[in-house]
Amino acid sequence: MLNLTKQMIELKNILASMDYSETLRLPAIVVIGSQSSGKSSVLEAIVGQEFLPKGSNMVTRRPIELTLVNTPSAAAEVADFPALKMFNITDFKQVQNVLFDLNRAVPEYECISDDPIQITIRSPCVPDLSLVDLPGYIQVEAADQPVELKQKIRDLCKKYLDPPNIILAISAADVDLANSAALRASKIADPSGDRTIGIITKVDLVEPEKAKSILTNRKYPLKLGYVGVITKAPSAGKNSSLFSRRPINSHQTFVAQQNFESSYFKESRDSFTGTTTGTKNLKRKLIKVLEKSMATALRPTHLAIQQELEETSYQFKVEFNDRQLTPQMYLANNIDLLKLATKELSNNFSRRELRAILKNELDQRVLDLLAERYWNKPFKLNGETVIEPDLKELANLNNINGDVYWHRKLDLSSNSLTKLGVGRLSTNLVTNALIMEIGNLVDNTQLRNHPMAKRAVQEAAKSVLSAKYYSTADQVENCIKPYKYEIEIEDREWQLSRENSICLLKEEMRQCEEVYNDLKKQVGGRKLNQVVTYLEKLHQQNTSEVDLNSNEALGFSSNLIKKGQDAIFLRDRLSLLKSRHQFLKSSKKCKKKENKYQCPEVYLDVVSSKLTSTAILFLNVELLSDFYYNFPRELDKKFFDTLSTEEIELFAKEDPKIKKHIELQERKDLLEAALNKIEGVVAIQRSKLNRLNEE
Ligand code: GDP
Repeated sequence: MLNLTKQMIELKNILASMDYSETLRLPAIVVIGSQSSGKSSVLEAIVGQEFLPKGSNMVTRRPIELTLVNTPSAAAEVADFPALKMFNITDFKQVQNVLFDLNRAVPEYECISDDPIQITIRSPCVPDLSLVDLPGYIQVEAADQPVELKQKIRDLCKKYLDPPNIILAISAADVDLANSAALRASKIADPSGDRTIGIITKVDLVEPEKAKSILTNRKYPLKLGYVGVITKAPSAGKNSSLFSRRPINSHQTFVAQQNFESSYFKESRDSFTGTTTGTKNLKRKLIKVLEKSMATALRPTHLAIQQELEETSYQFKVEFNDRQLTPQMYLANNIDLLKLATKELSNNFSRRELRAILKNELDQRVLDLLAERYWNKPFKLNGETVIEPDLKELANLNNINGDVYWHRKLDLSSNSLTKLGVGRLSTNLVTNALIMEIGNLVDNTQLRNHPMAKRAVQEAAKSVLSAKYYSTADQVENCIKPYKYEIEIEDREWQLSRENSICLLKEEMRQCEEVYNDLKKQVGGRKLNQVVTYLEKLHQQNTSEVDLNSNEALGFSSNLIKKGQDAIFLRDRLSLLKSRHQFLKSSKKCKKKENKYQCPEVYLDVVSSKLTSTAILFLNVELLSDFYYNFPRELDKKFFDTLSTEEIELFAKEDPKIKKHIELQERKDLLEAALNKIEGVVAIQRSKLNRLNEE
């Protein structure tokens, strides 16, 4: 059998996450009533649970959209707050607290908010109904409130009191109906009284005759009529014949109230003839009225969904060429692209590239060592100028084997290189280079638009690399250990290093020249010559102190003097480099490894080349191959194993264009599901009508 209201409520749930146009609104029953009219008691009697927040200070500040779903299979009442992702709450005290907190979240000065609270209650005892409890706007409107607040309240009420909604106007029997704020409001929204059901509460507080006259109200006739209810039993003590035992829990309270109500109306049966009374009848009436409005809403809703879907599909085709996209697909695509790029990287960034990075760094260290130990000028030690043996002397030495000074110098230099901590240095270099490469890969994918994902990729790379950092650094350091004691050189190695160091010196010369020319450009050739001549004259006079006040120094600022000193340094360094370059290139001595003391540039290059090759051997296996194997797995772990559906959605929607694409697709999917649903309902409804006609 088709339960139309249930089906339409399901349809409403499908559409709930979508902001839809006014034409897609499905009918609901809106409950209004002034404070203490018994509004909460009526709602709770319908649900059979005490769940609404109580208190005098505007406890309802937001509309509560209450969906009741009759679930015959359920063992008990359960409540869901879909927007809060809270489901299957069986403790209604907790429901009351959540509602209280959600309402309290609206500051007192704002009084109300039009952002509805959605709650679904599923139970075998509730009918399928869609109800809305509005903030106590009626009493607010009567109070002395600012104009804009009144307007805000009116707009909110208008939205809910407009068709196709049904108005449940609650008035207490012991208050003159002419003063009923609920009826006053419903008269404005529904002047002909087509959509209003009048509820008269607290019938037990007036004489049955008076109650009857209210229920057959002629002054404000309602097409859907009035219903009289007693939704609160008097406490034990009073009327103890009707209510003999004190209830101990919420459920028993409702059973007691129902018993009291049905006994009351049974006892005064004669007085109430021709009227509708009792909560049970109220529920029946609500089900019937809502079902009828749902049936009326069926066709326009069907049309509205069709139209909305057509528009959305068209937009989806025009803007995104019908390309399917979900947050999961978007994430998976991006991670796949990144993995593919990492695979490519493993071909382009391998042993050879590692070698170049490390050798380049060690070349720099070799140049620093040479500058510090070989290419220096006389220096001062304890106030005395120490003249180091000149490199020219080194080049001309014929029998160097006995010269302890040059031997020691080379040993010390070689030691500085082998003991500089190649393990850490090389592991660091490779780690940083890989992290940078991965950063570049990310910048070539759409992930660059997602700060959170960019960070997660970096973290994945770092965690894979750091897992191996210390063991790799230690292993590399261990393997180069023998070079700290002895370096054996083959002829081929010597020749290669000789070529290397010639290139290195050439490059150093080029750089030196570049800096010198820059300096000349900055200061001006003539001026630089003047200051250099002045400084050289001082040098010849053996005075290194520059007296800026002397006549010759006039016109030279301290900055200019500094530039002049730099120029002399560069000029001397250049001439030294040139002579060493010439020596390495042309001297027969440098072709033989036995002459290593005279060719420290070549020897140190041999050392750095050996260190590089040995370190790379381990770095390649321990760090690089391991990284290429584990990084894609770490990406899966970071993105697919740990991110929740919500987080993936948040991630995808960080990119505004993707957000638009996904949301449009979601809207299209929802509308398709809604259309399927409503077409099913329409088909059943039609066959039901056909059957009725045949009968
Ligand atoms: P609301 O402020 O409109 O939500 O009203 P409540 O449901 O909180 O009820 C206000 C007061 O009226 C409470 O003290 C209830 O116990 C009492 N009340 C509600 N319905 C009835 C009823 O049918 N009979 C009697 N005697 N008291 C009722």
